[in-house]
Amino acid sequence: MSYAQPNPYAAPQYPQQYPHPQLGYAIDARMDGDALRTANGTQLPDVCLKCGVRHDLERRHQKFAFVPVWARFFGPLFQVIFMKRSEFYLPICRSCHSNWKKWNLIAGVTWLPFLLFMFLGIAIGDEIGAALSGLGLLGCFAALIVTLILRVKHIVVAKKIDGTHSWLTKIHPAALQAIVGY
Ligand SMILES: [Zn+2]
Repeated sequence: MSYAQPNPYAAPQYPQQYPHPQLGYAIDARMDGDALRTANGTQLPDVCLKCGVRHDLERRHQKFAFVPVWARFFGPLFQVIFMKRSEFYLPICRSCHSNWKKWNLIAGVTWLPFLLFMFLGIAIGDEIGAALSGLGLLGCFAALIVTLILRVKHIVVAKKIDGTHSWLTKIHPAALQAIVGY
């Protein structure tokens, strides 16, 4: 048993939650810096998180993973042990959703041609082959990094996850306004 159980008689740590105007019940979501801090799995109201429209909405089943910064220095095993996960059914309009899927695909394939160059270089052998595989390897990394950076604009990112909450970023201001009404 943990001794850090919350005291049920303590004053609430955060302002009282009022029913969300659109959902009719309180949701645990508020701004924390540039991020939306929300309870893991919260059903967010019907507003596209990427453009703020309220029509043509779909729900994207999204799993997030986050490794605490300190754990990143101790190798893959620690990273897996201390990885925090959360999942949401995120509200997103049809066109933003297809954009998200498109960028997942782009990030998944842009580096493949360079991988081909790398293996081709290894197959050729000699100096030319070595140069070719070296360039292929560099190209692989460059393509992957560039597409991952560009992709961030088109997706929702969890910048932090703990046992109860996720900090979601890259959400459209109109959607934030609709969710927390700040
Ligand atoms: Zn949208």
